[in-house]
Amino acid sequence: AVGVLAVVGRPNVGKSTLVNRILGRRAAVVEDTPGVTRDRVSYDAEWAGTDFKLVDTGGWEADVEGIESSIASQAEIAVQLADAVLLVVDGTVGLTASDERIVKMIRQSGKPVTLAVNKVDSQADEYLSAEFWKLGLGEPFGISAMHGRGIGDLLDEALEKL
Ligand code: GDP
Ligand code: MG
Repeated sequence: AVGVLAVVGRPNVGKSTLVNRILGRRAAVVEDTPGVTRDRVSYDAEWAGTDFKLVDTGGWEADVEGIESSIASQAEIAVQLADAVLLVVDGTVGLTASDERIVKMIRQSGKPVTLAVNKVDSQADEYLSAEFWKLGLGEPFGISAMHGRGIGDLLDEALEKL
């Protein structure tokens, strides 16, 4: 069976944009409104000769109720079912308490994780990645899902862990 890579992170960090970039087509729904992806959606993907399943999830926010908590549950389920996790954070916003709670949830799952710092749209913005070393997940990969920056290096690392 092919490996499953789950893409998780807060709403609006660019998870669906990244999924589309990896797929090379617009399959996942991208919205300016946070939390538009309500469920977890699985896609067949291929990168550098490796076939894998890529799972897009709704945003994960801890300590929320109602619909928001069911979206968070979907992200947790995605992590449980995955072989490896791709955590996406927003370099323009910086490290948030929600990011730290997501990391805790991923750690509890015991799944290997690769860290993508999205919205690092140019080389001049690379410094934005540095503070995410604090999460203790190893190298933060500065990427721009929108412009296709840094995706190859990120996937080489993430697929290694499948
Ligand atoms: P999701 O909620 O995590 O799935 O985030 P989306 O993929 O729906 O994107 C949320 C917003 O961030 C949209 O307005 C995207 O166009 C924007 N966005 C996504 N990736 C990037 C990026 O690399 N750079 C910039 N500047 N904006 C981005
Ligand atoms: Mg989305």
